[in-house]
Amino acid sequence: MSRYWSPLVHTLSPYVPGEQPKIAQLIKLNTNEHPWPPSPRVAAAIAAELAGEAGQASGERLRLYPDPTASALRATLARLHGLDAVQVFVGNGSDEVLAHAFQALLNHRRADGTARPLLFPDITYSFYPTYCRLYGITPQTVALDDRLQLNVDDLIAAARAHDAGGVIFPNPNAPTGSGVARAEVERLLRALPDTVVVVDEAYVDFGAESALPLIAAHPNLLVVHTLSKSRALAGLRVGCAFGQAELIEALVRVKDSFNSYPLDRLALVGAQAALEDADWFERACRAVIDSREKLTAELAGLGFDVLPSQANFVFAAHPQHDAAALARALRERAIIVRHFSRPERIADRLRITIGTPAQCDALVAALREILRPQG
Ligand code: PMP
Repeated sequence: MSRYWSPLVHTLSPYVPGEQPKIAQLIKLNTNEHPWPPSPRVAAAIAAELAGEAGQASGERLRLYPDPTASALRATLARLHGLDAVQVFVGNGSDEVLAHAFQALLNHRRADGTARPLLFPDITYSFYPTYCRLYGITPQTVALDDRLQLNVDDLIAAARAHDAGGVIFPNPNAPTGSGVARAEVERLLRALPDTVVVVDEAYVDFGAESALPLIAAHPNLLVVHTLSKSRALAGLRVGCAFGQAELIEALVRVKDSFNSYPLDRLALVGAQAALEDADWFERACRAVIDSREKLTAELAGLGFDVLPSQANFVFAAHPQHDAAALARALRERAIIVRHFSRPERIADRLRITIGTPAQCDALVAALREILRPQG
């Protein structure tokens, strides 16, 4: 407690990010980063930006503010997805883009001043309840089914029952890895035409169906992407959102009331270079998907129940072994995976990021050793 803090700060319980240990030899399968470095074009573009024009002092461009509208990057994203640049928003990681969406599009009240709740799954990305606290939004969770799948009929029923002011969910969901088909997302959008639906597609490139083709017909849809996962740029912090111009305009208003320059010069050129390398992107996504399928089969072979994943991680439980104990035993062997002790419904599972083939092999070998009957 501090007498210097605004009252709001006393009410916050911030998101706790996955551990970023400093030990180099660790096999780090805990925060869903890409196992390989990004396209080599990224480092080349950043080096060129730092070098500036011929004859200029190195770093000269850093003296100047970056483009506040990120027009070149937005044009590239628009081209990539068959949209118009006014349908594209960019920000400092999709966490920041989501924060703007919570404020700009998901915070609604009734005429009598009472809050209309924001719906999201009971097991999902834990930044959503954090942003609700920050912005004074009432959360309303919708339970995943017994197999931890999101059911669109449940979302529709809850939205009607609670007069929801918005809906948000990751697709595929995190930490479960399961996706919802595009036709189901479309059914949701049609059922709730007056409600903004935000689909957080952080992991979509690893095999799920994107809702982007639905934007043209659905003014209530905002799709959020990140370059942190499938483009291997978590360190550069670039996220984006796509929707009809009316929704994007709301995000721009919030952004310009907060920080007119969310992306620095190096992030702008690095992101652009990554998006332009389609070959790298396709090869890298395919390699992660192939590794995921192989790891899923190997974990099943060790007795794990692995949820079908469309993401760059798997969510697995072993019927005879405590997940927290397994995570500890892996850590003793220098492999870190994610274990969530809450909610209790998922405390028996481990979320394991897909690593390089060598890292996945090391994980399977370590698990085989840990699971081997003693004595
Ligand atoms: N959405 C989901 C579902 C995530 O898991 C993450 C990564 N933790 C993000 C958004 C945020 O990613 P970033 O801020 O790196 O773009």
